[in-house]
Amino acid sequence: MASEQTQFHIFFLPYLVPGHMIPTLDLARLFATRSVKCTIITTPLNIPFFAEATKTDSQKLGIEINLLSVKFPYEEPGFPKECKSTQNFFKSIAELQHPFGALMEEFHPNCLVADFQFPWANSVAKHLGVPCLSFDVCSYIYPCVSSNLNRYQPHKEVSSDSEHFVVPGLPHEVKLRRAELAPYEKGESEKWMIELVDRIWEGQRECYGVIKNSFYELEPDYADYYENNMGFRHWHIGPLFIYFEGKGNECNQVGKKSSIDVEECLRWLDEKRDNSVIYVCFGSMSNVAYGQLDEIARALESLVQNFILVVRNKEDTNGWVLDGFEDKVKGQGLVIRGWAPQRLILEHQAVGGFVSHCGWNSILEGVVAGLPMVTWPRHAEQFYNEKLVTDVLRIGVPLGVKGWAGTLDENGDVIGKDEIATAISKIVVGKEAEDMRKRAQELKKMARRAIQEGGSSYSHLTALIEELKAYKIASNGFRSQNITSSTYTSFLT
Ligand code: UDP
Repeated sequence: MASEQTQFHIFFLPYLVPGHMIPTLDLARLFATRSVKCTIITTPLNIPFFAEATKTDSQKLGIEINLLSVKFPYEEPGFPKECKSTQNFFKSIAELQHPFGALMEEFHPNCLVADFQFPWANSVAKHLGVPCLSFDVCSYIYPCVSSNLNRYQPHKEVSSDSEHFVVPGLPHEVKLRRAELAPYEKGESEKWMIELVDRIWEGQRECYGVIKNSFYELEPDYADYYENNMGFRHWHIGPLFIYFEGKGNECNQVGKKSSIDVEECLRWLDEKRDNSVIYVCFGSMSNVAYGQLDEIARALESLVQNFILVVRNKEDTNGWVLDGFEDKVKGQGLVIRGWAPQRLILEHQAVGGFVSHCGWNSILEGVVAGLPMVTWPRHAEQFYNEKLVTDVLRIGVPLGVKGWAGTLDENGDVIGKDEIATAISKIVVGKEAEDMRKRAQELKKMARRAIQEGGSSYSHLTALIEELKAYKIASNGFRSQNITSSTYTSFLT
């Protein structure tokens, strides 16, 4: 084993939201299992998010991941509520480069792996002569669609927000509506936001390469398109979380604490028949309007299936939206208010379908569990992920969402209980449902093959590590490191 002095050392800089922090921790874990010294840098508010999980890792996986904190320039953010405004949050992200750069100077790692949302990361790494890899937590299909929207502007050819158009030049016919595009993609955001998004793309291009949390067999045409048509150097090494499957439940529950007793939740599932439970969750950030939640609840209640519904709205804990609902559906349904142990739920054999907002982590988790899905995108790139699930992979049924809902507010058209129940039935009963399940089960096997020795993700990971080590030798950019574990632990709260 390499000594502390000679061990290859990577700094990981995750973006400050759960959907980015969760896969970054998985990524650091993965590198740590390959004898790389790994340090995650985050803000004091987010340190506990990682601290619990890294403590468990050292017991269960025998790996050490170090944590360092860097002060957030404005007030401490809990995205974006504790920041005065969204713009303020992004300003803080920009200014973070100064204290972060100082940490890089102090510890001089051999490589920086930074979330793609930090467009300045490459210049900080360049200053020290070390490579910067952009960690892109999204699908391959997303940048391909986005780049061709930008290049061909097909949304300008239609006369209304609801009219379909085809995104030119892609490996499949991807049909979208203007209402499904991000405001910055349509040029409707404020100038600073449009400039920021452009800068993020440029920043990623400047990097040494891009790490993707996907696997080749899931979206081969888009991985190839990304490389050949868009010219990116990239390594697909996902799905990151399955490398640690079966190594203990705690490893699966990265980050936030489950709002339900995990054993109780698993016991509830144990009592259900195989494939009889529908899991409904809108990710870590989406709040769903009360009226909409009511329709969802009534749809679920009307089904013969069992269900788990995850409710994020804080106010719901006072009981409005599902007033008396849990009692009414006792035995059939479980409502989790707050944070659900999603990966464990999806992996349970009782779960047979997933109603998902199409965040990329959730899609991957659904794929890895071999589940057919009802797609209910809300914002960001979720509409493009939806097309992958429904039109390309054909493992899901679209709910028929007409356009963007607010990110953290409660806008969006209400979809009625009958439409919801019909969409769910389509992934449960009939020939089409059976075929979708078969395809999903095939992808589940492919995902596991990808991360085994000789598999596509495993090989890309090995190639990447070898290349980085060779880069270190060639550039002679290595300086001795004087960090000790006590220095690190002093940052833990
Ligand atoms: N998640 C979870 N419990 C919840 C909600 C979300 O464990 O109650 C996890 C989920 O498993 C996934 C991540 O949070 O790993 C959400 O990421 P995704 O990309 O799906 O959506 P986002 O939250 O970024 O919109």
